[in-house]
Amino acid sequence: MRSSDSDIAATAKKTKISKLKVMQKYKPEWEKQYGWVTSDSQNKTNARCTICAVNFTSGSGGIGQIKQHQETPKHRFKAEAKKNGRSDGCIRSLFRGKCNK
Ligand SMILES: [Zn+2]
Repeated sequence: MRSSDSDIAATAKKTKISKLKVMQKYKPEWEKQYGWVTSDSQNKTNARCTICAVNFTSGSGGIGQIKQHQETPKHRFKAEAKKNGRSDGCIRSLFRGKCNK
């Protein structure tokens, strides 16, 4: 599947860069695990969060980076808002008692 590619890469990198990290490419299967993940058309090693509308690099951490993003307060807040179908940012579960609507 990757014969010509790896041949070229091996030849090109043999001289200097021996410890270059292998960049994790975006995997479409991540979309199935995380409904909010999509690919970044600008950069194949980047993933994009459709909830936060941010790109983040998955190149170095792979799916770990995606898990990490999922745990960020910002993402959780927005994901919760989306789940509840609210766009006013009033999240009961996160701000108990402050939402009187
Ligand atoms: Zn997000």
